[in-house]
Amino acid sequence: MPLPEITVHYKDPHSYPSGIAFLDEQYVSMEQAKISVLDYGFLHSDATYDVAHVWKGAFFRLDLHLERFFSSLEKLHMNVPYDRDEITEILHNCVALSGHRDAYVEFICTRGNSPSFSRDPRDAINRFMVFAIPFGSVANKDQMARGLHAAISDRVRIPTSSVDPTIKNYHWLDLVQGIYDAYDKQAETAILLNENGDIAEGPGFNVFAVKDGRVRTPGHGVLQGITRRTVFDLCAELDLSCRETQISPEELSQADEVFISSTAGGVMPITRLNGTSVGAGVLGPIFEKIKKMYWDKHSDPQWSLPIRYSSSA
Ligand code: PLP
Repeated sequence: MPLPEITVHYKDPHSYPSGIAFLDEQYVSMEQAKISVLDYGFLHSDATYDVAHVWKGAFFRLDLHLERFFSSLEKLHMNVPYDRDEITEILHNCVALSGHRDAYVEFICTRGNSPSFSRDPRDAINRFMVFAIPFGSVANKDQMARGLHAAISDRVRIPTSSVDPTIKNYHWLDLVQGIYDAYDKQAETAILLNENGDIAEGPGFNVFAVKDGRVRTPGHGVLQGITRRTVFDLCAELDLSCRETQISPEELSQADEVFISSTAGGVMPITRLNGTSVGAGVLGPIFEKIKKMYWDKHSDPQWSLPIRYSSSA
């Protein structure tokens, strides 16, 4: 039997959101943004990333995302051949070229691949990439208006003794399985526990409970979210008590208000937990205050960096 011919050009059966990526030193469309199957980012989830958003034509708190990204790189012994200013320019160019005024901007460093497929991570050449696609949110419009329905999962988020959660990472199988558990319980999303049985975080978000006017969020086993940090900053301005603490599943269920935070959507309400109403079952007054201030702050020059859409990359 003759060997089959190698197909060099093929038609990609998938479709992609519109956007621009930066990969191997080039700006390309999302259809063209492909990595090698030998990349350890794919084979071993050996990667770190960050996500910033652009709202009404400006990045929000990009400096904090860059700080977290560089800290994750250092903890994973990875290097990118760009400094902060150069990465800022690449991120900016992806958004400007995409034309999106509201964008989800992800930047990634994978371990890359080693020419000999060596198992020594030091032999791999790290790969940096970026993409800018339309803004996305954990909660859709309807869920934003009425509040998400969440289920507290029995699943334990990968322990901090296994993977440092302050490194933003792709160890998401527990989170994805948690989403399916939630669907089985007729909920829309999941909240996972930490190894002590307390509340940790959910798929792409941090969790907040409000009780007697005080705002609380778990401190252990969670990503130090930039939106979470922003909630702390906003509470300080609003003169609201906001602290890290252990929160048991029972305490979360008995909260007056529950909300979540993510770059993908900002602050978002949860009005049902395990099939039961949270507090009055409607969007809470403290959540509403924080949400308004969160979006108002997007036009504060101290926290935003405008995109120059007319510039060419
Ligand atoms: N927790 C996890 C596991 C996440 O993946 C994310 C964001 O993707 C968050 C929390 C929220 O972090 P941030 O506010 O920086 O988007």
